[in-house]
Amino acid sequence: MRTVSFPVTIVTGNPGEKPRLAMQQLCWPARCACCGAPNEGSTLDLRHDVHASAGDVFQEVTTTGIPVYPLAWRLPCCRSCIKHQVAPAGIPTTALLVGAFLLWAAMGYLLFLAGLAYNALAIAAFVVAGLLLGFAACKLYAVLESWSRRKVESYMKPTCTASGVPVSIRSDLLHVEFTFQNDTFGDEFRAMNQLGG
Ligand SMILES: [Zn+2]
Ligand SMILES: [Zn+2]
Repeated sequence: MRTVSFPVTIVTGNPGEKPRLAMQQLCWPARCACCGAPNEGSTLDLRHDVHASAGDVFQEVTTTGIPVYPLAWRLPCCRSCIKHQVAPAGIPTTALLVGAFLLWAAMGYLLFLAGLAYNALAIAAFVVAGLLLGFAACKLYAVLESWSRRKVESYMKPTCTASGVPVSIRSDLLHVEFTFQNDTFGDEFRAMNQLGG
């Protein structure tokens, strides 16, 4: 991992103008930030909000009501690495549970139609069936989960450095700090932006 930090300043414009966050233009290495392969021109949108301090005059407010200075960059990333970074398709947990429940309710209705609603054995069987259906839904969930994880992993190459976004960003009102999973990328990035050390 390589961490590269940039100084930032809050620039207050003319009266009536909102202040903005000033930061140097960044240069990006001509390689994928994840696997380090030569760049093909594809990029990943990178966003980061610098949180303004409370009471500060701020640039924008997020949906959660936090005042922020929004920043955005385009991170070089090869196409196959973009694939393994997009979140795997969510497992339809709700659909799974609702499906199992409806199946169980349908069984109950069939028992009722068959005139077995007051039959102790049938009711016991119905309860057991409910437990089995719940168990099956859990099993199915586990299978779907490992399937979606394997799908993400199948896009990864031996040279990949992270299954998710290969850079994390932290900030305060004086610095924006990038931490790269790929050391070569991080070193080049540091050199290109003339930070030395
Ligand atoms: Zn890559
Ligand atoms: Zn990768």
